[in-house]
Amino acid sequence: AARQPNAIRLQIYNAQMMAEQLEKHHLQSELAHAIKDQQLRLFVQPQVSQGQELVGLECLVRWQHPEKGLLPPGHFITLAEESDLIVSLGEWVMEQACAILAQVQKIQPNIRVAVNISPKHFRQAYFNAQCLGYLAAAGANPKGLMIEITESLFVDDLDEVIAKMTELKKHGIRFSIDDFGTGYSSLSYLQHLPVDELKIDRAFILGMERYGLEGSLVSSIYAMAQQMQLEVVAEGIENTTQWQRLARFDQLQLQGFLFAKPQFYPDWLKTWQSTINV
Ligand code: C2E
Ligand code: MG
Ligand code: MG
Ligand code: MG
Repeated sequence: AARQPNAIRLQIYNAQMMAEQLEKHHLQSELAHAIKDQQLRLFVQPQVSQGQELVGLECLVRWQHPEKGLLPPGHFITLAEESDLIVSLGEWVMEQACAILAQVQKIQPNIRVAVNISPKHFRQAYFNAQCLGYLAAAGANPKGLMIEITESLFVDDLDEVIAKMTELKKHGIRFSIDDFGTGYSSLSYLQHLPVDELKIDRAFILGMERYGLEGSLVSSIYAMAQQMQLEVVAEGIENTTQWQRLARFDQLQLQGFLFAKPQFYPDWLKTWQSTINV
């Protein structure tokens, strides 16, 4: 392509762009249909204590595409976020999550269920009312709901965001900052946010392997969280070496393939019920 005249290169480039745009629009309209057509699947990934006791579940959406098979969120969340589809997708996930919470609370009352919520969804005026509505309809105790947000939520309209979070917290709902450390947050404003938990991004767990515990920020994040009385979850733990390095952090909660992979909720539930009934 380097030897082609500019005009031809530009044409090729345009054709590629157009093909990509078309593919994107196609997937977007398919996704709109998928949400109504029950093609979304809710997977859950367990979160455990250092003693490997189950403390919670994170809800992770998948798309059972009729031709492409089971698609991970990396294939469609960005697409959904570029349109309003992320709102209907998030509503579907939230409603399912509340039903799951009600079901698992009956078995283990202190368990929590975490849901990923995009800023665009959280910013809907009716978000709080709808969320409380789903909880009530499912008969779930709001204390078990953990809403995972990212630092990007705090970029603008901070007062409004904090007011909404504060209202939900009055009902016992908690907030977790996902992918903590990768975004915009300055540590100084963290103490003004009504958050309950930090999720240390997998990048720091990988960093710990490369640079050692001291060279990574894991110790600092944990210490700061302890001081601010926040819960901490370490994400993406894949091997025992990583876990051993984290062993000194008593209160740290753990999530990763080493403990359990995300599983289709009904399958996970069956396995869980069979292990606790014996
Ligand atoms: P996240 O919220 O940070 O979720 C953790 C991701 O790490 C999940 O990927 C999970 O499968 C993966 N993971 C867990 N343990 C390990 C591990 O040990 N090693 C590795 N390599 N990965 C691990 P997944 O399910 O593909 O989701 C990717 C992202 O998509 C999520 O990142 C979240 O940002 C977004 N997402 C997923 N479900 C939803 C949803 O319902 N709504 C919204 N808005 N976003 C969602
Ligand atoms: Mg998450
Ligand atoms: Mg995360
Ligand atoms: Mg992540």
